[in-house]
Amino acid sequence: PGRHLYLRVWRAQVGRVSLFLLDSNDPQNSPWDRAITASLYAPGQELRLIQEIILGVGGWLALKKMGIKPIVCHMNEGHAAFVVLARAYSFMHEEGGCSFLEALWATRAGNVFTTHTPVEAGFDRFDRDLLKKYAKHYTEAQGLSPNDLVVMGLKTEKDDISPFNIALLALSGSCFVNGVSRLHAQVSKRIFQSRYPRWPENEVPIDYVTNGVHIPTWDSPAAQRLWSLSSPTECGPDCIDYEAGKIARQSDQDIWNFRALARKDLIDYARRRHARQMQEHGASSEEIEAARHVLDPNTLTIGFARRATAYKRTNLLLRDEEKLVSILTNHDKPVQLLMAAKAHPADIAGKEMVKQMANFADRLDIMDRVIFLEDYDIDLAQHLQAGVDLWINTPLRPNEACGTSGMKVLANGGLNLSTLDGWWDEAYDPRVGWLLGDEGDEIESPAGFGPERDDSDARNLYRLLEEEVIPLFYQRDDQGVPSSWVAKIKASMTELTPRYSANRMMKEYVEKVYQPAADAYRKRTKEGAKLAKELVGWQKRINQCWRGVHFGHLKVTRDEEDWWHFQVEVYLGDVYPDDIQVELYADSLPQSSRGEETRPARILMDQKGLLAGSVNGFVYYADVPANRHAEDYTPRIVPYHPDAFVPQEDSHILWMR
Ligand SMILES: *Cc1c(COP(=O)(O)O)cnc(C)c1O
Repeated sequence: PGRHLYLRVWRAQVGRVSLFLLDSNDPQNSPWDRAITASLYAPGQELRLIQEIILGVGGWLALKKMGIKPIVCHMNEGHAAFVVLARAYSFMHEEGGCSFLEALWATRAGNVFTTHTPVEAGFDRFDRDLLKKYAKHYTEAQGLSPNDLVVMGLKTEKDDISPFNIALLALSGSCFVNGVSRLHAQVSKRIFQSRYPRWPENEVPIDYVTNGVHIPTWDSPAAQRLWSLSSPTECGPDCIDYEAGKIARQSDQDIWNFRALARKDLIDYARRRHARQMQEHGASSEEIEAARHVLDPNTLTIGFARRATAYKRTNLLLRDEEKLVSILTNHDKPVQLLMAAKAHPADIAGKEMVKQMANFADRLDIMDRVIFLEDYDIDLAQHLQAGVDLWINTPLRPNEACGTSGMKVLANGGLNLSTLDGWWDEAYDPRVGWLLGDEGDEIESPAGFGPERDDSDARNLYRLLEEEVIPLFYQRDDQGVPSSWVAKIKASMTELTPRYSANRMMKEYVEKVYQPAADAYRKRTKEGAKLAKELVGWQKRINQCWRGVHFGHLKVTRDEEDWWHFQVEVYLGDVYPDDIQVELYADSLPQSSRGEETRPARILMDQKGLLAGSVNGFVYYADVPANRHAEDYTPRIVPYHPDAFVPQEDSHILWMR
């Protein structure tokens, strides 16, 4: 607030991409300011706010200084949302004759916001006074009041109690918004619904691009060889075609040999790491020597590693330890378990879970079957995900926005068993893996934590392992190959690997988001932001005159051929007919009421002409097949401009009833 801060810029070259990092640790800054960028999760609201100002405003200024002029700004989570303001501010000054509001409309078309959490508490919030303290100089320079800024972080303008929510600034400052899986988009629509009052939840403008993993980072050298054999032309690891889908043509034996080698590599790695761990804990030399011989390279190997936190239910597998021990130590069909976890330092429940896992692994009766590997990090994950036969995930639906750890086993021929959450909700199919719990169409409330739920999921997990997973793994043909298991591996590798890869994700971002955003940005900003200015005028008219819009009579008739004819009178007051659209809307119907599920319907009504004897009154009509009740449909009026995003940029709506 009124002092200077110097930021240093570091550049890391990641392949062809430059990654710039901001750093306040410069001798020209005060000691307190030098520490601003010292830690990721800064304690306290004020430091967090300063970090986010640095990221959004400082980040934008740094790019500008380096002569980089982005057309699309992608905010990955809300933390960088102040870029919306910095960008509009620059635009206003560079394109003379443009107000801040016009600059905001011009640049918003090039802003993209990806939300990453299905938990509302996951968004950063700031006290209004704190925000005003830091925004004062900034808003004054733009002829705004600090309240104009506060409103951008609220769900509605009339809200005068909520703190400023940074995710809402990102939302109101972007024309393109997405979640990171199909289910997460549904949950996000619910979270942000109240920002679009009276709009149906399914029309909340949040799309999705499901995350994917960078396969070359996660597949083992052995997997790369297998994939390159299966590529159209044999080639090195740089030109593997993960989409060619030829894995299925490899013989079952080849696949099974590949899996055996992968498992053996993991066991070797786990033994080494385990022995080192024991050494660090001061174990005797005999104990360390014994640690070099634990695990067995021919036993079904399960991986269970994650960030330990309540919703992931990191200890679900350990809910009934005796039961788990009996599964692991089955004489004919043994199972071994590799576990790893890390908790956030402030997450006490998470730390307890890690402790429980470590203690379980210390039990003497399962010493050769279960290992807890410390320091869960990318290196450990790469080995685990390359070698395990089965990867288990237990998040409580719908709390996992996407989840990526399960994707990392795909290219390596590991199989997934998970609750229907995040990416698994769209990827699961009985041919490729296992489902824990029920299908659950409804998005259960995130408050649905509970011991009963955990008990029943744990029982299901043990049952699934005992009755389906383990028998399938040990069911061998004459050659010793578990052909049904290998069939699952083939289906999972060919169908899921390309779908959950970063390549697919990037392509989708380019096609669904970046290209349209770049086009819209160019259109709005050209010729002195002519279109942006027009849009500001359009929205002003709607805002000022909306109250005068109302409906007259509705007439519905049914014809011989079973069509409904809807005819409705509309009075527009001072709103231009071109500024709105009249629609018929019908909600979706649940599956149960009429056999099959009915999707929501949105039908554009045509203008028939002026309503006799009225001023700016019109008749609109639409014909619809009578396969739904006429009462299902409600006429409504929504703002319209061919280049505006509705309801994203204007959320007015008028329902007839
Ligand atoms: C992939 C990965 C994660 C994230 O896994 P999720 O399933 O997305 O929670 C966490 N830690 C490490 C070390 C990983 O490799």
